[in-house]
Amino acid sequence: MDCTHDEQELVFEEIDGWPCLVEVICEACNANVIELYSPQQIEDMERDERSFQADAYYDSLRDAELERMRESSQ
Ligand SMILES: [Zn+2]
Repeated sequence: MDCTHDEQELVFEEIDGWPCLVEVICEACNANVIELYSPQQIEDMERDERSFQADAYYDSLRDAELERMRESSQ
């Protein structure tokens, strides 16, 4: 049976301050979706998620800083 687990979204849970992939069971075939990935692929996805979150964090810091500058220049 070929199931592509199309309906299944990967889930990241924060563990020790880092997003980590958690087990997701495919509703169509009951397979553990993340077992289909190699440890290297999982590591890559976790790293992508971490850099994505870090970027969002720094963006929000920068926005707050810009906001402060805008307010103090008025
Ligand atoms: Zn499946």
